Amino acid sequence: MPINTPKFSPSEILTQLMEGNRRFIRGERNEHANREEALEKMRAPQNVIATVVCCSDSRVAPEHLFDAELGSLFVVRTAGGVVTAASLGSIEYSCLYAGSSLVFLLGHDDCGAVQATIQHLLDRYTPESDAIATIVQNILPCAAAAGPDQDIVQAVRATAVAHVERTMSRIIAASQPLRRLMGKGLVGVAGGLAVHTSGEVLLLPETDGTEKNS
Ligand SMILES: [Zn+2]
Repeated sequence: MPINTPKFSPSEILTQLMEGNRRFIRGERNEHANREEALEKMRAPQNVIATVVCCSDSRVAPEHLFDAELGSLFVVRTAGGVVTAASLGSIEYSCLYAGSSLVFLLGHDDCGAVQATIQHLLDRYTPESDAIATIVQNILPCAAAAGPDQDIVQAVRATAVAHVERTMSRIIAASQPLRRLMGKGLVGVAGGLAVHTSGEVLLLPETDGTEKNS
């Protein structure tokens, strides 16, 4: 398969996403294609600008939060935004072949997977299966900062942010294709936190690729 050359720089795409989020917050979403136009676009090859890695939570819908057109976001979703081998392969595919020039890891507050992990840390929750335990174990190193006396809302938010930051570092460390594309300036990695009460996406500081909390 031919390697895709993105049409926009990572910083241009990040600006587009954040502008879309501001439109969403203000209730000024763009007029998107009607059904016929949407179907026509879907018959054409994908026109991906960014890869969004996020939680499966029903309230975290990237196309809505970033006011993005169908076909423009390559979305990788698991509970908690946990990146597995298959997720990483999906991220690499989108950057190598689908035209993505930005990998945006989107955590969110009030996350059930993060709450379950904190409860597990406090010995109040035992995962029902190995599959669910995989999710909890992935988030667990980031839940250490949430002590038993800490406000649960704040603890969930702090853990979600730490998990996004750690995942950003981990995917860079784990993916040679991603590092190669980043080295050429073709792909960037960014992270944010969605506030479910407002729909606002808070941008997190850039990562230097150093893994944290490992
Ligand atoms: Zn969640």
